[in-house]
Amino acid sequence: MPKTEKHFEISIQRTGKPYTEVHEWIDDPAHKDERHDITKVLEVARMFEEKYGPEAAREYVQHLADDINGKLGHLVEDVQAIVDKTLSYFGTKK
Ligand SMILES: [Zn+2]
Repeated sequence: MPKTEKHFEISIQRTGKPYTEVHEWIDDPAHKDERHDITKVLEVARMFEEKYGPEAAREYVQHLADDINGKLGHLVEDVQAIVDKTLSYFGTKK
């Protein structure tokens, strides 16, 4: 997952604004797991829309999407490394 500061940069590139209050809220270490819970996306998006507007709500959803892409990207790299190592071990890959 990107670090919180990276989310600020991505938001600036997307919208021209960092949306620090959105990303800091999501990544708050004391509540990090519950605030990345995708099943709460509708109620949390509504909360951000009421507080900061529709663009902030979209940045909240985009934060979750960026984290998912980051996590799966690492997972694919890790699995590929294991596959390569195993194939190499058995001499089926040079
Ligand atoms: Zn996050």
